[in-house]
Amino acid sequence: MESRSFYNEILTEHNVSPYHKHDIENPDIVLEGVNPNCGDDIWLKLKCDGDIIADAGFTGDGCAVSQASADIMIGLIIGKKKEEALRLADIFIRMIKGEAREEEIDSLEEASALRDVAHMPARVKCAVLGWHTLEEAFGNN
Ligand code: ZN
Repeated sequence: MESRSFYNEILTEHNVSPYHKHDIENPDIVLEGVNPNCGDDIWLKLKCDGDIIADAGFTGDGCAVSQASADIMIGLIIGKKKEEALRLADIFIRMIKGEAREEEIDSLEEASALRDVAHMPARVKCAVLGWHTLEEAFGNN
């Protein structure tokens, strides 16, 4: 059971042709994220330059929500400091719980397209999978 807003343009675009679904060269961090409820299984790969996320990608399989969310997340965090990426992950996860403020949601840019998942409990773990994996990758969970 999917709502119409779920298949909005941004999600469809990131699902049909994800920009960041690929291996990266010599990643510094590789971490698997699994959501057994849905069968989503992703591998997050991060390359860091000091405090900055220099490059990132993901591989694996899963439903449209998990894949689009991971792809959007990676687009948002490349070039940002780890600290900033973790701040965005915190906002995203609170948005999915329905707890983020409007101005915080605005800072998520494209990822704000997933806000309606807050009303779809079965999809919550799919939406946060990539972001939780990011938090774990940086040892902050
Ligand atoms: Zn899923």
